[in-house]
Amino acid sequence: MRIGIGYDSHRLIEGRNLVIGGVEIPFQKGLLAHSDGDVLCHAIIDAVIGALGIGDIGSHFPDTDPQWKNASSIAMLKYIVEISSANGYGVSWIDSTILAESPKLAPHIESMRNALAQSGIPSGIINIKAKTGEGMGFVGRQEGIAAYAVCLLRKIR
Ligand code: MG
Repeated sequence: MRIGIGYDSHRLIEGRNLVIGGVEIPFQKGLLAHSDGDVLCHAIIDAVIGALGIGDIGSHFPDTDPQWKNASSIAMLKYIVEISSANGYGVSWIDSTILAESPKLAPHIESMRNALAQSGIPSGIINIKAKTGEGMGFVGRQEGIAAYAVCLLRKIR
């Protein structure tokens, strides 16, 4: 088995849609990024890449690459899950925590698990937790949103 950890954060700005875990969440701000800024997806991607030991999200999706500009992060995750499979590893478990002061994310967690499953990782092995920053730091000041994820891979062949 292999384990990997991922972390991501993005700045909240006006004029962008808020996409977390592949779900568009009604909010007055969105996350600034080359792609859709999906912090949860990006943390999971880095966790899978970390477990595979093949670099990081920046080496697979450079922000100079027009192919991934405004890309769906679910498509990016699907691409990495396919690389994992090609390397002989399947995902056994994903656990994650999103840090956001607002909006409230609990009502969207089931939708996120289902959206993330479009990457090929079954929703039944994806756990998502949501916390606030208790008013502290960049999360607490609503300057941005962050996410952590861990991934357990198992050898499938
Ligand atoms: Mg990111």
